[in-house]
This record gives sequence, structure tokens and C-alpha cells, in this order.
Amino acid sequence: MVLKLKIIRKLFNLVKANHYIWKTKLNKDMNGSLYIVATPIGNLDDITLRAIETLKSVDYILCEDTRISSRLLNSLEIKTKLISFNARTEERKIPNIINDLKNGKNIALISDAGTPTISDPGIRLVNEALKNGIEVKGIPGANAAILALSISGIPTDSFVFEGFLPQKKGRQKKLKELAEEQRTIVIYESPFRVEKLLNELAEFMPGRFVAINRELTKKFEETIRGTVEELKEKITDIKTKGEFVIVIAPKGWNNQ
Ligand code: SAM
Repeated sequence: MVLKLKIIRKLFNLVKANHYIWKTKLNKDMNGSLYIVATPIGNLDDITLRAIETLKSVDYILCEDTRISSRLLNSLEIKTKLISFNARTEERKIPNIINDLKNGKNIALISDAGTPTISDPGIRLVNEALKNGIEVKGIPGANAAILALSISGIPTDSFVFEGFLPQKKGRQKKLKELAEEQRTIVIYESPFRVEKLLNELAEFMPGRFVAINRELTKKFEETIRGTVEELKEKITDIKTKGEFVIVIAPKGWNNQ
């Protein structure tokens, strides 16, 4: 009798455990996934097969600017609906997006160019999705900082990505800090401030080796390398138009 009871209890526990596993699996499957999809930074051929497949199959795509992203989608014959999602609307739109994900929708996030959330909107959405138990998957691809670094000739074993430096308040303080940095520094800079930045680098980091990358992967792509003083001379030849990534060597490194 006791043995019988023990067996029944064991069976009951087994069913309970399986039911729990089945239930959590089912709940998980009911959620959709959020896909963070990298797109090209200039050359449209730099899209991956996985990115195309994902953008075709999701329920909708969040993008910074629907006009810019529709050009990419049209060139790939992707008909998925685009919904605008940018720094101004991010906070307001997150609750509805999380709701859609919870209701089983699969959603992709792209930015105007490159990898979303890197000096682009989206990290709050990723965080909120994770907090809600939603799976976040990355589809890797182009990123201007990593590309610039990889062709800089400057050590890549350890680097710091600064994104855009503050435009006014805090800029000098940041440059002073960076002058002491022992790792390679990667900066995004607006074309209107590249010359200004070079003058600042000459002041705060005299003699430092720098690589200026302009219009990577595009028709007028160019990279110039040299000490900050050499580049100050050259910058008059390089057009200060387009998009720029600046790679700065660590303190004490020289190109010998
Ligand atoms: N999320 C993007 C990425 O993965 O690189 C960066 C977006 S951020 C708003 C835009 C900045 O990235 C530009 O101002 C420029 O500094 C850099 N950038 C983007 N595309 C570039 C390119 N083709 N050549 C050089 N810099 C580029």
C-alpha cells in the first residue's frame, strides 16, 4: 500500500514538473522576438543574407526614418511594413512595441545606417524587452567604428569608443581625459567639426598618430593617416563633407 502511494506521488510529481516545463515553453513561444538588424553604412551590397531574411519575415520593422529605410527595402524588394522609431519617439512607443512582442509579433529594429543602438536609438527598447522576458537577437553587419578601427593600422587589442564628443559643455574636459587614455580611441565626428577637432587634438595631444576615415564603403571613401600636425596640413585637401570616424592612437604609441 505504502509502495503504491509512493509510486502515485512520484507519478504525480513527474506530471506536475512536465506540465510546468510545457507551460513555460508554451508561454515563451507565445512571445515574439526582437531582432536588432545591422544595415549598410553606405554600400548597399554590405547587407547580410540573414538581415534580408529577417527583414522579410518579421511582422514589422522599426526604423529611424521611413524615407531612408524604404530606399533600402525597395532595393531588396522587401515589402515589410516600416514604422518610425527614433530618439524623440522611443520612450512613448516602447509600451506598444512590448505589447506586440508579448502578443507574439516578431519585430526588427534598424537604424538609418550601421548597427542599431550604437550612437543610434534602441538600447532602451532592448532593455525593456529583456526585462519582459522577450528574446533579443542580433543580426550583425556594418558598423563604422569597427570598420575604421580595422583599417587604421593603430593597435586594436584594446580600444575605447567615445561616439560623438560633447559639442560644447564638457568637450574640453573630455579631450583632457582622452589625452591620458592608454587605449586606442574611436570617435564619430560631424563634418562641420572635423577641422576644429584636429586643432583641439593638436592642442591636447601633440604628436599623436591619428587615422581620419571619411565616407567609408562609399564612392568617395578615403582614409588619411599621420600625426595630428601632418593631418592638419592634409585636411585642407580632404573635403570636409560626408561622414567621419576618427581613430586616435594610445598615448605613447608611435608608428615605428
Ligand atoms: N549606428 C551607426 C554605426 O553602426 O556605425 C552609427 C550611427 S551615428 C548616428 C552616425 C555616425 O557614424 C556618422 O556621423 C559618422 O561619424 C559615422 N559613420 C556612419 N557611416 C559612416 C561612413 N560610411 N563613413 C564614415 N563614418 C560613418
